[in-house]
Amino acid sequence: MKREELLAPSEYNLVSEFEKYAKDEGKTALIWENAEGDSQEVTYSDLMKRANRAANSFQDAGLEKGDIVLIMVPRLIEAYVCYIGALKAGLIVIPSSEMLRPKDISYRLTHSEAKAVIAYEPFIDQFSGVAEMEGVTKLVIGQAEGWTSLTDKMEQAPDVFGDVGTRSDDMAFLSYTSGTTGNPKGVVHTHGWAYAHLRTTAEHWLGINENDIVWATAGPGWAKWIWSPFLAVLGSGAIGYVFNGKFDPAVYLQKLEYRKVNVLCCTPTEYRLMAKEKNLDSYDLSSLKSAVSAGEPLNREVIDTFRSKFDLEVRDGYGQTENTLLVGTMQGMEARPGSMGKPTPGNRVEIVNEFGQPADDGEVGDIAVHVSTPALFREYYKDSERTSMQFRGEYYITGDKAVRDGDGYFWFEGRGDDIIISAGYTIGPFEVEDALVKHPSVKECAVVGSPDEIRGTIVKAFIVLVEGAEGNEQLTQELQEHVKELTAPYKYPRKIQYIDELPKTASGKIRRIELRKSEQERK
Ligand code: ATP
Ligand code: MG
Repeated sequence: MKREELLAPSEYNLVSEFEKYAKDEGKTALIWENAEGDSQEVTYSDLMKRANRAANSFQDAGLEKGDIVLIMVPRLIEAYVCYIGALKAGLIVIPSSEMLRPKDISYRLTHSEAKAVIAYEPFIDQFSGVAEMEGVTKLVIGQAEGWTSLTDKMEQAPDVFGDVGTRSDDMAFLSYTSGTTGNPKGVVHTHGWAYAHLRTTAEHWLGINENDIVWATAGPGWAKWIWSPFLAVLGSGAIGYVFNGKFDPAVYLQKLEYRKVNVLCCTPTEYRLMAKEKNLDSYDLSSLKSAVSAGEPLNREVIDTFRSKFDLEVRDGYGQTENTLLVGTMQGMEARPGSMGKPTPGNRVEIVNEFGQPADDGEVGDIAVHVSTPALFREYYKDSERTSMQFRGEYYITGDKAVRDGDGYFWFEGRGDDIIISAGYTIGPFEVEDALVKHPSVKECAVVGSPDEIRGTIVKAFIVLVEGAEGNEQLTQELQEHVKELTAPYKYPRKIQYIDELPKTASGKIRRIELRKSEQERK
């Protein structure tokens, strides 16, 4: 695919990608269910009508094109309705997870100067202590005192909505990053970004064909929800399966079988826990033809298990809130377990050295994106300093380190800050973690550098064990030997600490920064 094919027409609204499927009256868009067994289905045509009602209601509430709105609606059909309605009305959406706490909401409202909040009734308490809500329009799905009911407004509103004339370079999303390393950054994405993203990922990476049943497990509020369950599913005319229930590996496997899911997109942690599930053989996943993972490094253990049990290749994909899928094992490409894959079509992704020049094969460097790439973000909102810090020469620097081999495959080393330098060696935590989770007693782990008098820094592993395993001196030695067998021996964890839980972001990413800090403080 050429770069030009990723450039949207100048007059463009991303909702047009979904709207074209509404002409076919009976075409299913979403199948929703919750843990209690309630379920709903909606067609493309109904979804668009409901979104039009929402768009009219937003205008009626005084919101205008270019206004910023924070949307906090969980995995419900209403989330799709609100996002589509807002985008159609030319509003800029701040995707927000229901897991945000008052301080997270304050941070976003102050930083963005949002005009309105659209929230789901059970979550409005999270807004009550927030001083910045003063003067903000409050719309609620359901009913709540002090809030205008969007549900009521939509009942009165017409189900047709005219064109507000958005352009491809108009802002569509103000997406805050996960905050794995510090305060979340406000990433500006345009309608044109969505055009490029859809064309990069839906078919080539996710492997979605029209009418496929697709389960992308990310929840609204995360960049990944926009990527997959929202843009890629509805932009392909596929059927999105939405499960509004807590993650449980056995439940997920049952749903995959029962719903005859064709395409699965989830996090490495979800795959890892499914792979460790007992009686994995008993599930019939024969409908599943494509499975992808993104958000964190994908362990080899997962790939091996899904290959042997289901004859299925779990394919990795790497990207950031700031851009799109940058590197991935695309559909039909030869997979190299442990490698993320190759640069995605139409995007210029390189490994660069400290001078901003392309690095040699085999040399560790920064994963970088050429500035000409259409799916690169415009800026960090109201933070030109931070934006410019992220560029070196002609490249945007992702902050992640990797190596490219002679065949063009990228091998992830770790986040720049997570890289360990010990006794003169550079050690990426991922390779060590990857080896550790291959051990049957290890459920999850995180590897960081720990200060050491003699060596400066040593490799330390924090390990969560599977049920029934006991963390003792004997296991520690066994794990150290195990890592030495699978990696270069100098990378083995000299220290191992067993813990009950790893520190994670609300989206479930491991926060090595916290472990690293506590190690430094301990010294
Ligand atoms: P913050 O920037 O606020 O600290 P964050 O970087 O975790 O948070 P996201 O944009 O959600 O926020 O995540 C992108 C990061 O996730 C990447 O920079 C990379 O470190 C990691 N990542 C995503 N996909 C993969 C993958 N397939 N393999 C390894 N790492 C990945
Ligand atoms: Mg980041």
